[in-house]
Amino acid sequence: MYFRAYSGERLCSKCFTKTFEKRVARTVAKYDMLKYNDRIAIAVSGGKDSLALLRVLAKIEDRFPASSIVAVTVDEGISVYRDEAIKHAEDFISKMDDVEHVKVSFKELFGFTLDDVVKNGIVDRAGVKPCTVCGILRRRALDIVAKRAGATVIATAHTLDDVVQTYFMNMLRGDIDKQPFGIRTELDGLVPRVAPFKLTPENEVVMYAYLHRIPFQSHVCPYARTSMRDMIRNFLTEYEENYPGTLYTALTSFEKLIKPSSMLLQKCEVCGAPTGRKICRACEILGCLDVEEVPIK
Ligand code: SF4
Ligand code: ZN
Repeated sequence: MYFRAYSGERLCSKCFTKTFEKRVARTVAKYDMLKYNDRIAIAVSGGKDSLALLRVLAKIEDRFPASSIVAVTVDEGISVYRDEAIKHAEDFISKMDDVEHVKVSFKELFGFTLDDVVKNGIVDRAGVKPCTVCGILRRRALDIVAKRAGATVIATAHTLDDVVQTYFMNMLRGDIDKQPFGIRTELDGLVPRVAPFKLTPENEVVMYAYLHRIPFQSHVCPYARTSMRDMIRNFLTEYEENYPGTLYTALTSFEKLIKPSSMLLQKCEVCGAPTGRKICRACEILGCLDVEEVPIK
């Protein structure tokens, strides 16, 4: 059923599922991502990756009675695309036992939807891309909603492909010194983030979702083509197809180059949120968009 090109394995659906779930559990253990008594906020956008993560982590978490999971969803306000995803998330979670679902929206936190600031030209006039606004504010929103849900850690569905794309983007911006991606780093005032799919290629997440009838979205984000990530994704996908295993090699190479620096956090001068800079990135973006302050809840 599945040919794993980088290892030469040919797998039936049962063995594919088993090896897939085992690798996620091994990734969690290898990087000490989770503790036995964590309250894990799983970032569920409603896309197939996040629902697949919810499914796998719920199975792993079942073995740890002192831990609990909560699904957290950020609604950026992208009509049709995010509405469909949220519907998928709600349907999926409603069929699970004991999984709480906590949602928050850009509208509630920042006073506008992403559509508002893109469609009326504010994003263009500020000289930023919709994905930059979306990514930075979603990060802040996730932190807020995870704290509201009493979470001790946030798990995101970033795959091996996402992590390598991020490293490439950081490199092209001359920013290679950042912390390794998806590794638990406890910083005062911030909920640590982990990426249990960090060693799992995107196409395997797609296959897992397909096999387990996780719904796929029929709409794509209308702003997706505007991103630098998109260009890098296309390049890496083509490269991996021609040279299987490239993504793993790239991950290892990048992580050898990264020199994690101890980050001292201070309070953002505008909103008071913990940040490594004078003004946090969320406030910087909101400043560009002529919004004065980020309400921290
Ligand atoms: Fe947000 Fe860009 Fe992703 Fe759309 S493609 S959800 S705008 S980050
Ligand atoms: Zn701030």
